[in-house]
Amino acid sequence: MNKAIGIMGGTFDPIHYGHLVTAEAARYGYKLDKVIFVPSGRPPHKKERQITAAEHRYNMTELAVKSNPYFQISRVELDRPGYSYAIDTMSQFVEQYGSDAELYFITGADAILEIITWKNVDKLMEYCQFIAATRPGFHLDDLHQLPDKFIRKIIFMEVPALAISSSDIRRRVAEHRPIKYLLPEPVENYIYQHDLYREVYSSSPGK
Ligand code: ATP
Ligand code: MG
Repeated sequence: MNKAIGIMGGTFDPIHYGHLVTAEAARYGYKLDKVIFVPSGRPPHKKERQITAAEHRYNMTELAVKSNPYFQISRVELDRPGYSYAIDTMSQFVEQYGSDAELYFITGADAILEIITWKNVDKLMEYCQFIAATRPGFHLDDLHQLPDKFIRKIIFMEVPALAISSSDIRRRVAEHRPIKYLLPEPVENYIYQHDLYREVYSSSPGK
Protein backbone atom coordinates (compact mmCIF):
# COMPACT_ATOMS: atom_id res chain seq x y z
CA MET A 1 0.00 0.00 0.00
CA ASN A 2 1.17 3.52 -0.73
CA LYS A 3 2.58 5.54 2.08
CA ALA A 4 0.76 8.71 3.08
CA ILE A 5 2.97 11.44 4.43
CA GLY A 6 1.93 14.78 5.88
CA ILE A 7 4.17 17.79 5.56
CA MET A 8 3.55 20.56 8.10
CA GLY A 9 5.44 23.67 7.11
CA GLY A 10 5.67 26.80 9.18
CA THR A 11 7.88 29.47 10.64
CA PHE A 12 7.26 27.95 14.09
CA ASP A 13 8.35 31.14 15.81
CA PRO A 14 7.45 29.56 18.20
CA ILE A 15 5.62 26.27 17.57
CA HIS A 16 2.39 26.00 19.62
CA TYR A 17 -0.59 23.74 20.27
CA GLY A 18 -2.45 25.09 17.21
CA HIS A 19 0.22 23.53 14.97
CA LEU A 20 0.39 20.30 16.97
CA VAL A 21 -3.36 19.75 17.21
CA THR A 22 -3.71 20.39 13.49
CA ALA A 23 -0.94 17.94 12.56
CA GLU A 24 -2.35 15.23 14.84
CA ALA A 25 -5.90 15.73 13.52
CA ALA A 26 -4.63 15.39 9.95
CA ARG A 27 -2.59 12.31 10.80
CA TYR A 28 -5.51 10.56 12.42
CA GLY A 29 -8.21 11.80 10.05
CA TYR A 30 -6.38 10.93 6.82
CA LYS A 31 -4.47 7.87 8.09
CA LEU A 32 -1.07 9.42 7.50
CA ASP A 33 1.92 7.24 8.28
CA LYS A 34 3.77 10.23 9.66
CA VAL A 35 3.84 14.01 9.72
CA ILE A 36 7.10 15.78 8.97
CA PHE A 37 7.46 19.26 10.46
CA VAL A 38 9.48 21.56 8.22
CA PRO A 39 10.60 24.79 9.87
CA SER A 40 11.12 27.35 7.14
CA GLY A 41 14.57 28.75 6.60
CA ARG A 42 13.82 32.18 5.14
CA PRO A 43 10.10 32.58 4.51
CA PRO A 44 9.59 34.82 1.46
CA HIS A 45 6.33 36.23 2.88
CA LYS A 46 7.69 37.23 6.27
CA LYS A 47 10.39 39.59 5.04
CA GLU A 48 8.81 42.45 6.89
CA ARG A 49 9.71 41.29 10.33
CA GLN A 50 12.76 39.92 12.00
CA ILE A 51 12.30 36.21 12.51
CA THR A 52 14.09 34.27 15.22
CA ALA A 53 17.30 32.43 14.31
CA ALA A 54 16.55 29.22 12.44
CA GLU A 55 18.37 27.06 14.97
CA HIS A 56 16.17 28.26 17.83
CA ARG A 57 13.03 27.59 15.79
CA TYR A 58 14.37 24.17 14.86
CA ASN A 59 15.22 23.30 18.49
CA MET A 60 11.79 24.37 19.74
CA THR A 61 10.07 22.34 17.03
CA GLU A 62 12.21 19.33 17.91
CA LEU A 63 11.23 19.62 21.58
CA ALA A 64 7.56 19.92 20.66
CA VAL A 65 7.35 16.89 18.36
CA LYS A 66 9.39 14.53 20.52
CA SER A 67 6.46 13.06 22.44
CA ASN A 68 4.59 11.94 19.30
CA PRO A 69 6.00 8.80 17.62
CA TYR A 70 4.33 9.78 14.32
CA PHE A 71 5.96 13.20 14.19
CA GLN A 72 9.35 13.97 12.65
CA ILE A 73 11.29 17.10 11.88
CA SER A 74 13.23 17.97 8.74
CA ARG A 75 16.08 20.39 8.11
CA VAL A 76 15.52 20.63 4.34
CA GLU A 77 14.53 24.28 4.36
CA LEU A 78 17.17 25.26 6.90
CA ASP A 79 19.98 23.68 4.92
CA ARG A 80 18.89 25.09 1.56
CA PRO A 81 20.21 28.58 0.86
CA GLY A 82 17.93 31.42 -0.23
CA TYR A 83 14.23 31.92 0.40
CA SER A 84 12.20 28.85 1.34
CA TYR A 85 9.64 27.99 -1.30
CA ALA A 86 7.13 25.17 -0.82
CA ILE A 87 7.72 24.00 -4.39
CA ASP A 88 11.40 23.30 -3.72
CA THR A 89 10.62 21.50 -0.48
CA MET A 90 7.93 19.36 -2.06
CA SER A 91 10.11 18.37 -4.99
CA GLN A 92 12.75 17.23 -2.51
CA PHE A 93 10.19 15.04 -0.74
CA VAL A 94 8.86 13.70 -4.06
CA GLU A 95 12.40 12.72 -4.96
CA GLN A 96 13.05 11.16 -1.55
CA TYR A 97 9.84 9.12 -1.30
CA GLY A 98 9.30 8.36 -4.98
CA SER A 99 6.01 7.88 -6.71
CA ASP A 100 4.65 5.36 -4.22
CA ALA A 101 4.06 7.95 -1.52
CA GLU A 102 1.12 10.32 -1.36
CA LEU A 103 2.08 13.69 0.00
CA TYR A 104 -0.27 15.92 1.96
CA PHE A 105 0.63 19.49 2.65
CA ILE A 106 -0.99 20.54 5.93
CA THR A 107 -1.77 24.21 6.44
CA GLY A 108 -4.10 26.52 8.25
CA ALA A 109 -7.02 27.61 6.12
CA ASP A 110 -5.84 31.20 6.26
CA ALA A 111 -2.58 30.19 4.64
CA ILE A 112 -4.40 28.35 1.86
CA LEU A 113 -5.75 31.63 0.54
CA GLU A 114 -2.22 32.75 -0.09
CA ILE A 115 -1.27 29.75 -2.18
CA ILE A 116 -2.32 31.42 -5.40
CA THR A 117 0.57 33.77 -4.82
CA TRP A 118 3.08 30.97 -4.24
CA LYS A 119 5.86 30.15 -6.65
CA ASN A 120 4.94 27.43 -9.24
CA VAL A 121 1.61 26.74 -7.61
CA ASP A 122 0.38 24.58 -10.53
CA LYS A 123 3.34 22.25 -10.17
CA LEU A 124 2.90 22.19 -6.39
CA MET A 125 -0.71 21.07 -6.85
CA GLU A 126 0.53 18.15 -8.96
CA TYR A 127 2.89 17.05 -6.23
CA CYS A 128 0.48 16.99 -3.32
CA GLN A 129 -2.99 17.37 -1.89
CA PHE A 130 -3.64 20.07 0.66
CA ILE A 131 -5.24 19.56 4.05
CA ALA A 132 -6.49 22.91 5.26
CA ALA A 133 -7.43 23.30 8.91
CA THR A 134 -10.14 25.81 9.49
CA ARG A 135 -9.23 28.10 12.32
CA PRO A 136 -11.04 30.89 14.11
CA GLY A 137 -11.65 33.94 11.97
CA PHE A 138 -11.64 32.02 8.73
CA HIS A 139 -14.77 32.09 6.59
CA LEU A 140 -15.31 29.49 3.92
CA ASP A 141 -16.83 32.23 1.71
CA ASP A 142 -13.32 33.62 1.33
CA LEU A 143 -12.51 30.55 -0.74
CA HIS A 144 -14.40 31.89 -3.73
CA GLN A 145 -11.22 33.76 -4.50
CA LEU A 146 -9.55 30.45 -5.39
CA PRO A 147 -9.84 28.88 -8.85
CA ASP A 148 -11.81 25.59 -9.03
CA LYS A 149 -8.80 23.54 -10.04
CA PHE A 150 -7.18 24.43 -6.71
CA ILE A 151 -10.28 23.88 -4.61
CA ARG A 152 -10.43 20.31 -5.95
CA LYS A 153 -7.02 19.61 -4.44
CA ILE A 154 -7.93 20.92 -0.98
CA ILE A 155 -9.45 18.86 1.81
CA PHE A 156 -10.99 20.93 4.59
CA MET A 157 -10.63 19.69 8.10
CA GLU A 158 -12.17 21.11 11.23
CA VAL A 159 -9.88 21.33 14.22
CA PRO A 160 -10.92 22.39 17.73
CA ALA A 161 -11.11 26.16 17.62
CA LEU A 162 -7.70 27.14 18.84
CA ALA A 163 -7.17 30.85 18.71
CA ILE A 164 -3.47 30.41 19.35
CA SER A 165 -0.91 32.11 17.17
CA SER A 166 2.85 32.58 17.34
CA SER A 167 2.44 36.36 17.06
CA ASP A 168 0.23 36.41 20.13
CA ILE A 169 2.74 34.26 22.05
CA ARG A 170 5.62 36.58 21.09
CA ARG A 171 3.63 39.59 22.22
CA ARG A 172 2.74 37.92 25.50
CA VAL A 173 6.38 37.15 26.31
CA ALA A 174 7.41 40.71 25.51
CA GLU A 175 4.68 42.02 27.79
CA HIS A 176 5.48 39.53 30.59
CA ARG A 177 2.10 37.86 30.27
CA PRO A 178 1.71 34.07 30.63
CA ILE A 179 2.11 31.65 27.73
CA LYS A 180 1.61 28.55 29.84
CA TYR A 181 -0.85 26.00 28.26
CA LEU A 182 -0.55 27.62 24.83
CA LEU A 183 2.46 25.52 23.90
CA PRO A 184 4.34 22.50 25.28
CA GLU A 185 6.19 23.13 28.51
CA PRO A 186 9.68 22.28 27.15
CA VAL A 187 9.18 24.95 24.47
CA GLU A 188 8.06 27.45 27.10
CA ASN A 189 11.18 26.70 29.15
CA TYR A 190 13.38 27.03 26.06
CA ILE A 191 11.96 30.49 25.33
CA TYR A 192 12.80 31.74 28.83
CA GLN A 193 16.21 30.05 28.94
CA HIS A 194 17.26 31.72 25.71
CA ASP A 195 15.61 35.07 26.36
CA LEU A 196 13.54 34.89 23.19
CA TYR A 197 10.80 37.40 22.33
CA ARG A 198 11.81 39.93 24.97
CA GLU A 199 11.30 42.90 22.69
CA VAL A 200 7.91 44.10 21.58
CA TYR A 201 7.87 43.94 17.80
CA SER A 202 7.52 47.39 16.35
CA SER A 203 6.53 46.10 12.91
CA SER A 204 3.17 44.47 12.34
CA PRO A 205 3.02 40.81 13.38
CA GLY A 206 3.70 38.26 10.66
CA LYS A 207 0.91 36.43 8.95
P1 ATP B 1 2.38 33.97 13.12
O1 ATP B 1 1.36 34.45 14.10
O2 ATP B 1 3.77 34.45 13.37
O3 ATP B 1 1.97 34.12 11.70
P2 ATP B 1 1.36 31.27 13.20
O4 ATP B 1 0.78 30.97 14.53
O5 ATP B 1 0.40 31.58 12.09
O6 ATP B 1 2.47 32.39 13.34
P3 ATP B 1 3.00 29.80 11.37
O7 ATP B 1 4.33 29.20 11.69
O8 ATP B 1 2.92 31.02 10.54
O9 ATP B 1 2.27 30.07 12.79
O10 ATP B 1 2.00 28.70 10.80
C1 ATP B 1 2.35 27.49 10.20
C2 ATP B 1 1.08 26.81 9.71
O11 ATP B 1 0.22 26.49 10.82
C3 ATP B 1 0.23 27.70 8.79
O12 ATP B 1 -0.30 26.87 7.77
C4 ATP B 1 -0.85 28.23 9.71
O13 ATP B 1 -2.02 28.55 8.99
C5 ATP B 1 -1.07 27.04 10.63
N1 ATP B 1 -1.57 27.44 11.96
C6 ATP B 1 -1.04 28.34 12.80
N2 ATP B 1 -1.76 28.45 13.93
C7 ATP B 1 -2.80 27.59 13.82
C8 ATP B 1 -3.93 27.25 14.68
N3 ATP B 1 -4.11 27.83 15.86
N4 ATP B 1 -4.80 26.33 14.21
C9 ATP B 1 -4.61 25.76 12.99
N5 ATP B 1 -3.59 26.02 12.14
C10 ATP B 1 -2.69 26.93 12.55
MG1 MG C 1 0.88 32.58 10.36
